[in-house]
Amino acid sequence: MSIQRHVTVEGVRLRFAAAHMATLGDDLEPLHGHNYVVRCRVEGDLTADRWVIDFGVLKRAVREACEALDHRFLLQARSTLLQASLDGATWTVRFGDREYRFPASDVAVLPIENTTAELLAQWIADRVDEALTAGGHGNVTRIAVDVEEMPGQSGGYARDRE
Ligand SMILES: [Zn+2]
Repeated sequence: MSIQRHVTVEGVRLRFAAAHMATLGDDLEPLHGHNYVVRCRVEGDLTADRWVIDFGVLKRAVREACEALDHRFLLQARSTLLQASLDGATWTVRFGDREYRFPASDVAVLPIENTTAELLAQWIADRVDEALTAGGHGNVTRIAVDVEEMPGQSGGYARDRE
């Protein structure tokens, strides 16, 4: 018999509002935004206190990831379809004859191929993983993150921890 316990956090502060434009095939969405909602679930063994993790610790890790994205333009820096370049304090993003310029302070530069909910969930999960590692939460064996773009429409990512 395999026993697995888990903790899930979501809430009013585990959200971010951001602009993006995802690529679809050879096309690029118009610039637009979402009020994203994030849900994180971790699995693991019980500690001596008989919990997987303190809710507050997990919420803080997710909140810090959300804050890094909040009120930013989400740039998929590994896109093979967008040409993005940083000149001084300005990002220029080109796609065909479209050109966008953003102050660097308004841009969250993400090492992902596209700003889909699935890859945003992966980016957040990686941040949570780093925070759990830094906090010594070695009992947590799996992290799952869902990112909701709008009600009823979310993408997710889950993986076992090393
Ligand atoms: Zn969108």
